[in-house]
Amino acid sequence: MRWKNVRRSQNVEDRRGQRAGRRMPGRGGGMKVGGGAGIVLLLLGLFFGQDLIGPLTSGGATGGAPQIGAQTRLDRNNTEVRTNDQAKDFIASILGTTEDVWGPLFRQAGQTYQPPKLVMFSDGVTSACGFTSSAAGPFYCPGDSQVYIDLSFFRELQRMGAGGDFAQAYVLAHEVGHHVQNLLGVSMAVQRRQRTLPKAQANRLSVLTELQADCYAGVWAHHAHKQYQLLEPGDLEEGMNAASKIGDDALMRSAGRQAHPDAFTHGSSAQRQQWLYQGLETGDPQQCDTFQGAS
Ligand SMILES: [Zn+2]
Repeated sequence: MRWKNVRRSQNVEDRRGQRAGRRMPGRGGGMKVGGGAGIVLLLLGLFFGQDLIGPLTSGGATGGAPQIGAQTRLDRNNTEVRTNDQAKDFIASILGTTEDVWGPLFRQAGQTYQPPKLVMFSDGVTSACGFTSSAAGPFYCPGDSQVYIDLSFFRELQRMGAGGDFAQAYVLAHEVGHHVQNLLGVSMAVQRRQRTLPKAQANRLSVLTELQADCYAGVWAHHAHKQYQLLEPGDLEEGMNAASKIGDDALMRSAGRQAHPDAFTHGSSAQRQQWLYQGLETGDPQQCDTFQGAS
Protein backbone atom coordinates (compact mmCIF):
# COMPACT_ATOMS: atom_id res chain seq x y z
CA MET A 1 0.00 0.00 0.00
CA ARG A 2 1.08 3.56 -0.63
CA TRP A 3 0.06 5.21 2.62
CA LYS A 4 3.09 7.25 3.60
CA ASN A 5 1.95 10.45 1.92
CA VAL A 6 -1.61 10.58 3.16
CA ARG A 7 -2.89 12.85 5.89
CA ARG A 8 -2.73 11.53 9.47
CA SER A 9 -5.97 11.47 11.44
CA GLN A 10 -6.01 13.43 14.70
CA ASN A 11 -8.52 10.97 16.14
CA VAL A 12 -6.08 8.36 17.44
CA GLU A 13 -5.71 7.99 21.19
CA ASP A 14 -2.74 6.02 22.42
CA ARG A 15 -3.45 4.16 25.65
CA ARG A 16 -0.75 1.55 25.21
CA GLY A 17 1.06 0.83 28.41
CA GLN A 18 -1.79 2.10 30.57
CA ARG A 19 -3.62 -0.05 33.04
CA ALA A 20 -7.16 -0.75 31.99
CA GLY A 21 -8.43 -0.30 35.51
CA ARG A 22 -9.99 -3.65 36.01
CA ARG A 23 -8.66 -6.96 37.18
CA MET A 24 -9.46 -10.40 36.00
CA PRO A 25 -11.41 -12.36 38.56
CA GLY A 26 -9.20 -14.85 40.28
CA ARG A 27 -6.01 -13.34 39.07
CA GLY A 28 -3.58 -11.16 40.80
CA GLY A 29 -3.00 -8.34 38.48
CA GLY A 30 -3.67 -6.85 35.15
CA MET A 31 -4.44 -9.17 32.40
CA LYS A 32 -1.89 -10.74 30.25
CA VAL A 33 -2.74 -13.42 27.85
CA GLY A 34 0.32 -14.94 26.35
CA GLY A 35 0.84 -16.45 22.95
CA GLY A 36 -0.89 -19.82 22.75
CA ALA A 37 -3.60 -18.96 25.22
CA GLY A 38 -4.05 -15.72 23.39
CA ILE A 39 -4.96 -17.30 20.14
CA VAL A 40 -7.32 -19.76 21.75
CA LEU A 41 -9.11 -16.92 23.48
CA LEU A 42 -9.02 -15.00 20.29
CA LEU A 43 -10.81 -17.81 18.51
CA LEU A 44 -13.28 -18.14 21.34
CA GLY A 45 -13.92 -14.45 21.02
CA LEU A 46 -14.74 -15.01 17.40
CA PHE A 47 -17.11 -17.81 18.17
CA PHE A 48 -18.86 -16.03 20.93
CA GLY A 49 -19.54 -12.89 19.14
CA GLN A 50 -16.87 -10.43 20.05
CA ASP A 51 -16.36 -8.45 17.02
CA LEU A 52 -13.24 -9.35 15.42
CA ILE A 53 -12.35 -8.97 12.18
CA GLY A 54 -9.72 -9.17 10.17
CA PRO A 55 -6.32 -9.84 9.34
CA LEU A 56 -3.05 -9.06 9.44
CA THR A 57 0.22 -7.97 8.39
CA SER A 58 3.65 -8.52 7.30
CA GLY A 59 5.88 -6.73 5.19
CA GLY A 60 7.26 -7.81 2.07
CA ALA A 61 7.74 -6.34 -1.22
CA THR A 62 4.88 -3.93 -1.10
CA GLY A 63 6.86 -1.64 1.02
CA GLY A 64 5.82 -2.24 4.16
CA ALA A 65 3.66 -3.35 6.89
CA PRO A 66 4.51 -1.29 9.86
CA GLN A 67 6.54 -2.67 12.69
CA ILE A 68 4.39 -3.55 15.59
CA GLY A 69 6.68 -3.00 18.51
CA ALA A 70 7.41 0.63 19.00
CA GLN A 71 10.74 1.65 20.36
CA THR A 72 10.33 3.42 23.62
CA ARG A 73 12.41 5.45 25.96
CA LEU A 74 11.62 7.25 29.21
CA ASP A 75 11.49 11.00 29.25
CA ARG A 76 12.38 13.23 32.19
CA ASN A 77 9.03 12.63 33.85
CA ASN A 78 9.38 8.91 33.45
CA THR A 79 6.63 8.92 30.90
CA GLU A 80 7.06 6.46 28.15
CA VAL A 81 7.74 8.24 24.93
CA ARG A 82 7.42 6.30 21.76
CA THR A 83 9.77 6.99 18.98
CA ASN A 84 9.87 5.68 15.48
CA ASP A 85 6.35 4.46 15.96
CA GLN A 86 5.48 3.36 12.49
CA ALA A 87 2.53 1.28 13.60
CA LYS A 88 0.76 4.29 15.06
CA ASP A 89 1.65 6.29 12.00
CA PHE A 90 0.08 3.62 9.79
CA ILE A 91 -3.10 3.51 11.87
CA ALA A 92 -3.43 7.30 11.85
CA SER A 93 -2.96 7.29 8.07
CA ILE A 94 -5.56 4.64 7.38
CA LEU A 95 -8.02 6.22 9.81
CA GLY A 96 -7.46 9.53 8.01
CA THR A 97 -8.39 7.93 4.70
CA THR A 98 -11.60 6.51 6.20
CA GLU A 99 -12.51 10.07 7.26
CA ASP A 100 -11.74 11.37 3.78
CA VAL A 101 -13.89 8.66 2.20
CA TRP A 102 -16.91 8.57 4.51
CA GLY A 103 -17.16 12.35 4.99
CA PRO A 104 -18.01 13.02 1.34
CA LEU A 105 -20.16 9.88 1.00
CA PHE A 106 -22.31 11.02 3.93
CA ARG A 107 -22.44 14.55 2.54
CA GLN A 108 -23.66 13.26 -0.80
CA ALA A 109 -26.47 11.54 1.06
CA GLY A 110 -27.33 14.76 2.87
CA GLN A 111 -25.91 13.55 6.16
CA THR A 112 -22.97 14.42 8.37
CA TYR A 113 -20.20 11.98 9.11
CA GLN A 114 -18.93 12.16 12.67
CA PRO A 115 -15.61 10.32 12.58
CA PRO A 116 -14.91 7.81 15.32
CA LYS A 117 -12.00 7.97 17.70
CA LEU A 118 -9.60 5.06 17.56
CA VAL A 119 -8.02 3.88 20.79
CA MET A 120 -4.80 1.88 20.70
CA PHE A 121 -4.37 -0.18 23.84
CA SER A 122 -2.36 -3.04 25.22
CA ASP A 123 -3.56 -6.09 27.18
CA GLY A 124 -7.03 -4.85 27.97
CA VAL A 125 -9.21 -1.77 27.88
CA THR A 126 -12.29 -0.34 29.55
CA SER A 127 -14.83 1.28 27.27
CA ALA A 128 -18.53 2.05 27.34
CA CYS A 129 -18.85 -1.65 26.45
CA GLY A 130 -17.12 -2.69 29.69
CA PHE A 131 -13.76 -4.33 30.07
CA THR A 132 -12.37 -6.11 27.03
CA SER A 133 -9.23 -8.20 26.86
CA SER A 134 -6.88 -7.91 23.92
CA ALA A 135 -7.58 -11.56 23.26
CA ALA A 136 -11.01 -10.60 21.98
CA GLY A 137 -9.47 -8.76 19.04
CA PRO A 138 -10.24 -5.30 17.73
CA PHE A 139 -13.76 -4.06 18.27
CA TYR A 140 -16.08 -1.12 17.87
CA CYS A 141 -18.10 0.07 20.85
CA PRO A 142 -21.34 1.77 19.77
CA GLY A 143 -21.79 3.20 23.27
CA ASP A 144 -18.84 5.55 22.94
CA SER A 145 -18.46 5.46 19.15
CA GLN A 146 -14.86 4.36 19.37
CA VAL A 147 -12.75 1.73 17.66
CA TYR A 148 -10.36 -0.21 19.92
CA ILE A 149 -7.32 -2.12 18.81
CA ASP A 150 -4.34 -3.81 20.39
CA LEU A 151 -1.80 -4.14 17.62
CA SER A 152 -0.78 -7.56 18.88
CA PHE A 153 -3.87 -8.74 17.01
CA PHE A 154 -2.05 -8.16 13.75
CA ARG A 155 0.61 -10.58 14.89
CA GLU A 156 -1.92 -13.28 15.77
CA LEU A 157 -3.53 -12.91 12.40
CA GLN A 158 -0.21 -13.09 10.66
CA ARG A 159 0.23 -16.42 12.35
CA MET A 160 -3.07 -17.46 10.85
CA GLY A 161 -1.67 -16.78 7.41
CA ALA A 162 -3.37 -13.47 6.72
CA GLY A 163 -0.53 -11.09 6.10
CA GLY A 164 0.06 -7.72 4.51
CA ASP A 165 -0.53 -4.06 5.20
CA PHE A 166 -3.70 -3.99 3.17
CA ALA A 167 -5.05 -6.82 5.28
CA GLN A 168 -4.40 -4.68 8.37
CA ALA A 169 -6.09 -1.73 6.77
CA TYR A 170 -9.09 -3.90 5.95
CA VAL A 171 -9.43 -4.75 9.64
CA LEU A 172 -9.47 -1.08 10.55
CA ALA A 173 -11.86 -0.23 7.74
CA HIS A 174 -14.19 -3.03 8.85
CA GLU A 175 -14.33 -1.58 12.37
CA VAL A 176 -15.00 1.85 10.92
CA GLY A 177 -17.72 0.11 8.89
CA HIS A 178 -19.41 -0.74 12.21
CA HIS A 179 -19.21 2.95 13.09
CA VAL A 180 -20.97 3.77 9.82
CA GLN A 181 -23.65 1.21 10.72
CA ASN A 182 -24.01 2.87 14.10
CA LEU A 183 -24.47 6.30 12.53
CA LEU A 184 -27.02 4.89 10.10
CA GLY A 185 -29.00 3.21 12.86
CA VAL A 186 -28.31 -0.32 11.61
CA SER A 187 -26.60 -1.49 14.79
CA MET A 188 -29.48 -0.41 16.97
CA ALA A 189 -32.11 -2.00 14.75
CA VAL A 190 -30.20 -5.27 14.64
CA GLN A 191 -29.73 -5.43 18.40
CA ARG A 192 -33.39 -4.71 19.00
CA ARG A 193 -34.40 -7.48 16.62
CA GLN A 194 -31.89 -9.94 18.01
CA ARG A 195 -33.42 -9.75 21.45
CA THR A 196 -36.59 -11.30 20.08
CA LEU A 197 -34.95 -14.12 18.15
CA PRO A 198 -33.69 -17.59 18.99
CA LYS A 199 -29.92 -17.99 19.02
CA ALA A 200 -29.41 -19.36 15.50
CA GLN A 201 -31.45 -16.57 13.92
CA ALA A 202 -29.78 -13.94 16.08
CA ASN A 203 -26.43 -15.27 14.89
CA ARG A 204 -27.62 -15.01 11.35
CA LEU A 205 -28.33 -11.32 11.86
CA SER A 206 -24.85 -10.94 13.33
CA VAL A 207 -23.43 -12.48 10.19
CA LEU A 208 -25.35 -10.06 7.96
CA THR A 209 -24.13 -7.15 10.09
CA GLU A 210 -20.52 -8.32 9.84
CA LEU A 211 -20.75 -8.89 6.11
CA GLN A 212 -22.07 -5.38 5.67
CA ALA A 213 -19.06 -4.05 7.59
CA ASP A 214 -16.85 -6.06 5.21
CA CYS A 215 -18.65 -4.50 2.25
CA TYR A 216 -18.16 -1.03 3.76
CA ALA A 217 -14.47 -1.83 4.12
CA GLY A 218 -14.49 -2.56 0.40
CA VAL A 219 -16.26 0.76 -0.27
CA TRP A 220 -13.51 2.49 1.71
CA ALA A 221 -10.80 0.75 -0.34
CA HIS A 222 -12.51 1.71 -3.59
CA HIS A 223 -12.60 5.41 -2.78
CA ALA A 224 -9.33 5.55 -0.89
CA HIS A 225 -7.67 4.13 -3.97
CA LYS A 226 -9.41 6.66 -6.18
CA GLN A 227 -8.27 9.50 -3.95
CA TYR A 228 -4.78 8.35 -3.07
CA GLN A 229 -3.85 5.49 -5.42
CA LEU A 230 -3.51 3.55 -2.19
CA LEU A 231 -3.48 0.04 -3.61
CA GLU A 232 -0.50 -1.65 -5.15
CA PRO A 233 -0.35 -4.93 -7.01
CA GLY A 234 -1.01 -7.75 -4.59
CA ASP A 235 -3.06 -5.68 -2.14
CA LEU A 236 -6.38 -6.91 -3.41
CA GLU A 237 -5.19 -10.51 -3.06
CA GLU A 238 -4.01 -9.74 0.46
CA GLY A 239 -7.43 -8.47 1.41
CA MET A 240 -9.24 -11.39 -0.16
CA ASN A 241 -6.87 -13.83 1.51
CA ALA A 242 -7.47 -12.18 4.87
CA ALA A 243 -11.24 -12.27 4.39
CA SER A 244 -10.92 -15.97 3.69
CA LYS A 245 -8.69 -16.73 6.66
CA ILE A 246 -11.07 -15.07 9.11
CA GLY A 247 -14.24 -16.70 7.83
CA ASP A 248 -16.07 -18.58 10.56
CA ASP A 249 -15.69 -21.91 8.77
CA ALA A 250 -11.95 -21.45 8.39
CA LEU A 251 -11.59 -20.43 12.04
CA MET A 252 -13.67 -23.30 13.31
CA ARG A 253 -11.70 -25.77 11.25
CA SER A 254 -8.40 -24.36 12.40
CA ALA A 255 -9.63 -24.72 15.98
CA GLY A 256 -10.31 -28.39 15.25
CA ARG A 257 -14.07 -28.06 15.13
CA GLN A 258 -16.60 -28.82 12.49
CA ALA A 259 -18.00 -25.80 10.73
CA HIS A 260 -21.54 -25.23 11.99
CA PRO A 261 -23.28 -22.51 10.03
CA ASP A 262 -25.78 -21.93 12.85
CA ALA A 263 -22.93 -20.84 15.08
CA PHE A 264 -21.42 -18.49 12.53
CA THR A 265 -21.29 -14.89 13.70
CA HIS A 266 -19.16 -13.26 11.00
CA GLY A 267 -19.82 -15.27 7.88
CA SER A 268 -18.02 -17.94 5.94
CA SER A 269 -14.78 -17.31 4.11
CA ALA A 270 -16.62 -17.22 0.79
CA GLN A 271 -19.23 -14.76 2.08
CA ARG A 272 -16.63 -12.43 3.57
CA GLN A 273 -14.67 -12.39 0.34
CA GLN A 274 -17.81 -11.85 -1.69
CA TRP A 275 -18.96 -8.81 0.31
CA LEU A 276 -15.54 -7.24 0.60
CA TYR A 277 -15.26 -7.55 -3.14
CA GLN A 278 -18.74 -6.17 -3.73
CA GLY A 279 -17.83 -2.97 -1.87
CA LEU A 280 -14.46 -2.75 -3.56
CA GLU A 281 -15.85 -3.13 -7.01
CA THR A 282 -18.86 -0.83 -6.73
CA GLY A 283 -17.70 1.76 -4.19
CA ASP A 284 -21.39 2.17 -3.45
CA PRO A 285 -22.68 1.75 0.11
CA GLN A 286 -26.16 1.09 -1.31
CA GLN A 287 -24.76 -2.12 -2.77
CA CYS A 288 -23.96 -3.32 0.75
CA ASP A 289 -27.49 -4.30 1.71
CA THR A 290 -26.67 -7.69 3.12
CA PHE A 291 -30.03 -7.71 4.86
CA GLN A 292 -31.99 -7.73 1.64
CA GLY A 293 -34.21 -10.74 1.62
CA ALA A 294 -33.76 -11.41 5.32
CA SER A 295 -37.02 -10.67 6.98
ZN1 LIG B 1 -17.15 -6.79 12.84
